[in-house]
Amino acid sequence: MKEFKICSNKYCKKEKSVSDFYKNKKLKDGYQCWCKDCMKLSLNNWKNNTSNNVINNKDYNKNFMKNWYKENLIEHKKNVVEYNRKRTKEDCLFFIRQTFNNYLNAYRRLYNDKSDLGYTLDQFVEHFSNQAKEIWNKGLKPRIIKINKYKKETIISKVYALDNLKIIEGSKINVNE
Ligand SMILES: [Zn+2]
Repeated sequence: MKEFKICSNKYCKKEKSVSDFYKNKKLKDGYQCWCKDCMKLSLNNWKNNTSNNVINNKDYNKNFMKNWYKENLIEHKKNVVEYNRKRTKEDCLFFIRQTFNNYLNAYRRLYNDKSDLGYTLDQFVEHFSNQAKEIWNKGLKPRIIKINKYKKETIISKVYALDNLKIIEGSKINVNE
């Protein structure tokens, strides 16, 4: 089951738990594309302007969203950082997902490897969730390690193949960090 989803509002793009999205059975994954915050923002804007005839203007809502995020961008970015920091501390699966994603991005940047990984981040989390939770429940951070280091510039699907990865006990989770 999917646990996280990225809000598809291009001015938001925040990764959130699926509980931060309204359900919509008509959609493939069962959730709205935009997160609750963006839906609310958009709806409020629409309501506030029904009297001004602007709802007939197709671009209005789009421009509003763009401007809103532009005006609030610094605040918004701060919120995203803070949100990720908090989630990383509280949520084991979010933690391994973020950590792993950072590893992948670093590897891709370093070796300019844009090739396909062969599985999704959701599948990664699902594959290691039990092991990670077990470690997390001991008050330790799950550490993702590669079994075989391989030579530099080996394609990412080999270096990061699921059976080349292992989760071990890492440092203590520091709640006051
Ligand atoms: Zn959003």
